[in-house]
Amino acid sequence: MDRIPYGRQDINEQDIEAVVEVLRSDFLTQGSAVPAFESSVAQHCGAAYSVAMNSATSALHLSCLALGVGRGDWVWTSAITFVASSNAALYCGASVDFVDINPQSYNISVECLAEKLCKAEKIGKLPKVVIAVHLCGQSCDMKAIHMLGKRYGFKIVEDASHAIGGDYMGQPVGSCLYSDITVFSFHPVKIITTGEGGVAVTNDQALAKKMTLLRSHGITNSIDELIERPLNEIWNYQQITLGFNYRMTDIQAALGLSQMQRLGEFVDKRRSLAASYDEFLGNLPIIRPWQSEEAKSSFHLYVIRVQKARCGKSQKEIYASLCEAGIGVNVHYIPVYRQPYYESIGFVAGHCPEAERYYKEAITLPLFPALTKSNHEKVVTVLKKVLP
Ligand SMILES: *Cc1c(COP(=O)(O)O)cnc(C)c1O
Repeated sequence: MDRIPYGRQDINEQDIEAVVEVLRSDFLTQGSAVPAFESSVAQHCGAAYSVAMNSATSALHLSCLALGVGRGDWVWTSAITFVASSNAALYCGASVDFVDINPQSYNISVECLAEKLCKAEKIGKLPKVVIAVHLCGQSCDMKAIHMLGKRYGFKIVEDASHAIGGDYMGQPVGSCLYSDITVFSFHPVKIITTGEGGVAVTNDQALAKKMTLLRSHGITNSIDELIERPLNEIWNYQQITLGFNYRMTDIQAALGLSQMQRLGEFVDKRRSLAASYDEFLGNLPIIRPWQSEEAKSSFHLYVIRVQKARCGKSQKEIYASLCEAGIGVNVHYIPVYRQPYYESIGFVAGHCPEAERYYKEAITLPLFPALTKSNHEKVVTVLKKVLP
């Protein structure tokens, strides 16, 4: 039997039709689908501006650049995230550091952040930007992080790669009420997909303009940005800064726009599958995902924790049994600073103890809208069998 993956895309005929329509049109890139997709995401979030890119990694990179991150600056993020959250800062020549996680939410710990900021202030090494990652789709405590930002003068990027469709204090994730920029990923395992792709939303026009310029080589054709030159030297565009080609294609944007119409349906399905896991795994000696009262998760991931002292089996043993049964489990994530690359730039084990404890116990169960009832039941049955 086929292996059940931990996540996968859900593409219907309407999505396919939308992509085919672009393929038959005049513009495969730089056409009208990208702005339409951008508007759709901005509108969903209630954010003023939206810049689509070829990945969330690119969007994180340009977020950092737009906020002025460069050599000599510090950028902090959570120890438990995908490597792209911190790589983005390294691309800018900045130094990165990691903050330990909250033992309940597994998001960045506000207490650890506050403590670390207090120490950093004394030695003059305060971060320029903090990247708050909404792990599994559940928002961080943004209000508290925002207050620390005001006090210590750092900017805030929300890495909401997992969290489109989630809510925080009654507002959609991406409202940017407590941050400067929010970034979404549309990789196929995420909530909606464009194949590869990402969007940065913001309420700050200047940041949106900078990211728009940087995603397309630093080239502008806008009258108010063109540098004055003799008339015969002004063509229709100028490169005014060093940018990148981080553009999303219209093929991708058309898929994204079609998927946005299904966002509500996808998130409802994920929440209902998560609720079923909660129900059926309720009696097992494992830790199920904790849900904050302030945030409604989009449930990109359903992470359980297994503690040998409690259930008699280690994470590795249970992970192996699930794999053997054809269940595509995963671990999200290895603490970023334990990656060989990060160790090569000086990080050592023990830096964030709570993150390391989490890493030794976490297992991600399959969760995606197209997960069938029988596959969902299979995961539950196998877990019940391997756990006493
Ligand atoms: C997937 C992911 C990214 C990177 O997204 P891409 O679109 O693949 O570049 C960044 N941060 C987190 C937390 C992610 O899960």
